[in-house]
Amino acid sequence: DLADVAAPVAVAISAAGAAGLPRTSGLPDEAFIHDGQITKRPMRALTLSALAPRPGEILWDIGAGSGSISVEWCLAGGRAFAIETRSDRAANIRANAAAFGVANSLTIVDGTAPVALAKLPSPNAVFVGGGNEQSLFDALWAMIPEGTRLVVNAVTLETEALLLTEHNRHGGELLRIELAQAAPLGSMRGWMPSRPLVQWRVVR
Ligand code: SAH
Repeated sequence: DLADVAAPVAVAISAAGAAGLPRTSGLPDEAFIHDGQITKRPMRALTLSALAPRPGEILWDIGAGSGSISVEWCLAGGRAFAIETRSDRAANIRANAAAFGVANSLTIVDGTAPVALAKLPSPNAVFVGGGNEQSLFDALWAMIPEGTRLVVNAVTLETEALLLTEHNRHGGELLRIELAQAAPLGSMRGWMPSRPLVQWRVVR
């Protein structure tokens, strides 16, 4: 029931030792129900910053996973369409939308992009977190109106290569993000690096 669904959110809120949800993006990963496929907190904050939500705007979150990007977009006052090909993950998105109280502004599209995008209302911003292929880009670019903000994160070399080509073709900004977290190393501590990420941001 809703109490179970809301438990991670409650934990995340109380973990900070303060009341209520923080107003900024980059909520704790533990606040979301997920299966490990989630854009991690620091990267999510950078991604929301690049997407730059304004109240009332529409996001297409392609390959939504847990829906964390869509949820944070909706918390900023927008409406989101979370497109996810796996129905077990679509169920997580539904649970997260309910727990954060954004079920009315977050629409789950249980399907595969680009086919699943055809009947959606035009977006103000698009995030591609999954399904990065040349064919998806070509279809997407033809579909989105001028002025749409597009943000794509790449972790694989194949996707990175795609982004370098697209950047060469369409412009925009490429940002390489390398983060490391301190972790135990024997009796001492050492930096545990994350895989480097490349983020492409462009206005159509
Ligand atoms: N940003 C998400 C994580 C995305 S993981 C979060 O924060 O939770 C990438 C997701 O894309 C996976 O769940 C995968 O099932 C989905 N996916 C891959 N190709 C897709 C496609 N063509 N259409 C829709 N979803 C796709």
